[in-house]
Formats: sequence, structure tokens, C-alpha cells
Amino acid sequence: MKHVITLIPGDGIGPEVTESVVRIFKAAGLQIDWERHDAGVTAFDKTEETLPVALLDSIKRNKVALKGPVTTPIGQGFTSVNVGLRKALDLYANLRPVRNLPGVTSRYTDIDLIIVRENTEDLYAGLEHEVIPGVVESLKIITERASTNIARFAFDFAVKYQRKKITAIHKANIMKLSDGLFLDSCRAVARDHMDDIAYEERIVDAACMHLVMHPEKMDVLLLPNLYGDIVSDLCAGLVGGLGVVPGANFGRDSAVFEAVHGSAPDIALANLANPTALLLSGLMMLDHIGEHEVAAKIRAGLDAVLMKGAIRTRDLGGDATTTAFTDAICREVHA
Ligand code: ATP
Repeated sequence: MKHVITLIPGDGIGPEVTESVVRIFKAAGLQIDWERHDAGVTAFDKTEETLPVALLDSIKRNKVALKGPVTTPIGQGFTSVNVGLRKALDLYANLRPVRNLPGVTSRYTDIDLIIVRENTEDLYAGLEHEVIPGVVESLKIITERASTNIARFAFDFAVKYQRKKITAIHKANIMKLSDGLFLDSCRAVARDHMDDIAYEERIVDAACMHLVMHPEKMDVLLLPNLYGDIVSDLCAGLVGGLGVVPGANFGRDSAVFEAVHGSAPDIALANLANPTALLLSGLMMLDHIGEHEVAAKIRAGLDAVLMKGAIRTRDLGGDATTTAFTDAICREVHA
């Protein structure tokens, strides 16, 4: 069956890692019509829009997109395209499985964590203003609706994939109203699952320490947007770094698959990026569209290359280029 999927190459290392995934999918025999769209600075240069309407229309039509990282300027410039996309399509749930990969040595073994991050509000609302010179205010928006939706998503996921425990992560001792509402919403959903899923709560700072000391004792993490962002990078560090952790953004109508990492401008255009994180995001996408067999075949090919260990990218201790690593996986999966 032929699929039509929106592809956002992005910028920085985005074009290199998306091209890698496109090549591997082709080598595995998948028939995909990619609808390529620019976003962020690359789109602005052509259309003076950072999040073009044509891109949003393409995702709405196809319901599925694979997205490379798009740079957000720090401290100035346009607002985040990544956040804008999630808001525009109401991609309210960000799912990030964090697992050890075969052959990839890290400080920990047997890591199997699921991060469920609220994706539409919190300090990411981007509502900031200057009160008087020298004093600024950022608004942290937490709603019962969004908190309940993300909690439901986490519990539904936990039930479907037979997970044992959900940990809601917060700072409600300090932000009693906002994080308090987040917790109240999680508790209300947890009460409906008292018989099937264990539920606990941890303050974000203590949760970080616990994750570093005993990550094997955590299972599904349920977080508001900002803590979700920070804890995601921490968890990536547990299993070998940002080059190996995938992600997916789910809405009610569409889903956008993207790695946890950003555009990594320090290694862009150098053929050094590890495409594994985006490839694993792409495999989540294949499972989502029902291509389980091909996903399993590619996964086996990736595992084989990582296990052999001779060809791996610099972030994993090797010296292979993105292209050489991609070629190796293509040889494994060739249809
Ligand atoms: P953002 O806030 O936009 O998510 P970030 O601050 O998390 O970005 P990244 O761009 O994700 O930063 O990258 C941080 C560093 O991790 C990079 O500078 C790069 O060295 C490394 N890195 C990230 N992704 C990869 C990758 N796919 N392959 C190799 N190294 C990577």
C-alpha cells in the first residue's frame, strides 16, 4: 500500500537525518509519497511565513507527518515553530519512549521509561511581557481540560501497553495553584484506574534525583510541558544521549513524529549527526499507520548495525558519518 506522508526536513541536522530515514524506508521497500514542506527559517526565506498554511493543510490532509528539528532563535526572533505546530494542530500529547539500545553502552542497563508530556500550555504558552523596565512576567497557563486530557492519554497508554505505574511530576509545593490543578486533574483520572495502574506523585527536583539513582524503579512519567522538556533530556542521557531517543506528538486528528533532540547547529552539515532518534520516531510512525512488519524489519536492521558496532556515529563513540551509518542499515533491510 502506498502512503502519503508530510515530511518536514527542518534545519540544522534536520535535512541530514530526515534524508537518512527516507533512504532507509525506501531500502526496506516502503512506498511513500513524501509531501515535503519547509518550516522555520527555511520557510521564512521563501514565503515570509515560519509555519506555512500549506504545511498545516498537508498534515491535516495526510494525518501523519515526520518532522526534523526546526531551530528556535534564543532570546529574540520568531516564536517556536515546534510549539506553534503543536498548538495549531492541537497535538496535545508528547510521547517519548526511553530505552537502552542493543550494543549502545550507557551508565545504565534495563532502562524502559515512557515520558508523557503535556504539549500545549504551561510556560510554553509564550505569554510574556515587561511590567516595568527591569521586571518581566511569564505566564504559566495550566488548565483542567489540558491536564485531564494528558492524564487520560497517559493512563490509556499504560493500560494498552500493560505498564505498571504512572508517576505524576510537579512542583505543587511552590506553585500550589497551577501545579496543584495539574495534580488534581491527574488524581481524578487515577481514581478511575485504581484497580489496574499504580499511581504516585513526585516533586520534580526529587524526581530528577530518583531518575539518576534508580531509573529502573520508574515506569510512565506524566509531566506538564516544561518539566517534560527538561526531564526528557535527562532521560536521554540515561541511555546514550539525544541521538537515540524518539518521540511522537498526538492530537485527536493527526500525529507528528519527531526526535527529542533539537537542530544541533554545532554539527549541522558535517555528516556527523546520528539519525537513530529520528529513525526510531519513524518506526513509531510506521506502527501508527499499521506497517508493523516493515517497522520490525527496520528495527532489526538498526539493532544489527548497532550490535556489530563497527559502524556508528561519533556521539556513540564511533567515527562513521551519517551517510555511512545509513548505508549500513540500508544493506541490512534491503527488501
Ligand atoms: P532544543 O532546545 O531545540 O531541543 P537542545 O538544546 O536540546 O535543542 P540539541 O540541538 O538537541 O539541543 O542538541 C544538543 C547537543 O546534543 C548538540 O549540540 C549535539 O552535539 C548533540 N546532539 C543532538 N542531537 C544529535 C544527533 N542526532 N546526533 C548527534 N549529536 C546530537
